[in-house]
Amino acid sequence: MSPVVQWKAVIPVIPLWSRAQQQDYRSRVRGCLLGGAIGDALGAGIEFDALDKIRSDHGPDGVTGFVTAYGRRGAVTDDTQMSLFTVDGLIRAHVRQGSGAGWHPPTDVHHAYLRWAATQHDWGPDERRRDLGWLGREEWLYARRAPGSACLSGLSGPDAERLGTVAAPKNPHSKGCGTVMRAAPFGLLLGWEPGLVFQLAVECSVLTHGHPTGYLSAGALAVIVHAVLRGGAVEEGVELALALLAERPGHEETAAALRGALAAVRAGEPSAERVASLGEGWVAEEALAIGVYCALVAEDVRTGLLLAVNHSGDSDSTGTVCGNLLGAVHGETALPAEWVAELEGRGTVLQLADDLVLELSHGAELHGPGAGPAWRERYPVG
Ligand SMILES: [Mg+2]
Repeated sequence: MSPVVQWKAVIPVIPLWSRAQQQDYRSRVRGCLLGGAIGDALGAGIEFDALDKIRSDHGPDGVTGFVTAYGRRGAVTDDTQMSLFTVDGLIRAHVRQGSGAGWHPPTDVHHAYLRWAATQHDWGPDERRRDLGWLGREEWLYARRAPGSACLSGLSGPDAERLGTVAAPKNPHSKGCGTVMRAAPFGLLLGWEPGLVFQLAVECSVLTHGHPTGYLSAGALAVIVHAVLRGGAVEEGVELALALLAERPGHEETAAALRGALAAVRAGEPSAERVASLGEGWVAEEALAIGVYCALVAEDVRTGLLLAVNHSGDSDSTGTVCGNLLGAVHGETALPAEWVAELEGRGTVLQLADDLVLELSHGAELHGPGAGPAWRERYPVG
């Protein structure tokens, strides 16, 4: 059986950090979210193209930078949109807990994903809604960028408001990569135990995808990001993820995919063909394996990300996963400047990254006794 977490009993204690630790943390959080968005944008224009077509359209090396997608260079897709709403939900969970209004993070993330779903069917922010907060009022997010079908169906229709659980998930047979491509932010909860990070990513995946491989792949990515954020190497994160996976029923496909990524590293020089040996990335365990493999063999952020997107498959999602990892490893200053500069939504990504860090490190000052209303207006919790 999967463990059942009584969230009320596991309120994390936020550590008191030195200023240097806070700066390192902020750089990695920014790096993780910006890196993911950059990987997403690099893959956005070639998401549905086979490698042969990518090479004939863009040259023998495939894409070497942003290409036009959705009417501009540097456009991001649903992967980045949903990752931002994951962060919004996590911030609100902490605001709610700090306000004494309860603590059940999957519920706050569910509500955040419902606000993302509104961006997929509304023309723009519904100003009558008081729950949108600042992220839900960002007009540029109201754009459809090839959203995944399980993400849409799990968050719409008469069953939209029901909280999917591991015992009764939404879309029980779905294991599309829509879980893993939005899961890196769970790994940013620095003060948490790794097992709890894993569990939260799982519980927030079953909001849309119920196949074990779908939700366990998300748990694995979150744990790897978390390990890296705490100063570990990607390999250490993979080993920790494999240990946590071993305790879960239905882990075989996910564990095999991660082991396949490690074996591909040992097999020789990185290449698009070796990426292809790991799959195409449309399903969660393949997107995880490709993103992890490319992060492991990356000489630097640029070559790792280009390897992660130039293949026949779900280039934006594999780029997102790889970018999340490389950004968390190296921090924001290691990201190629011209890609950061041209990225759609850069200001939003950075503000949200900084807000997460502020909430986790100084939440009591922002919404505790005596605090003004500004933070609660940004992150209303009812
Ligand atoms: Mg996408």
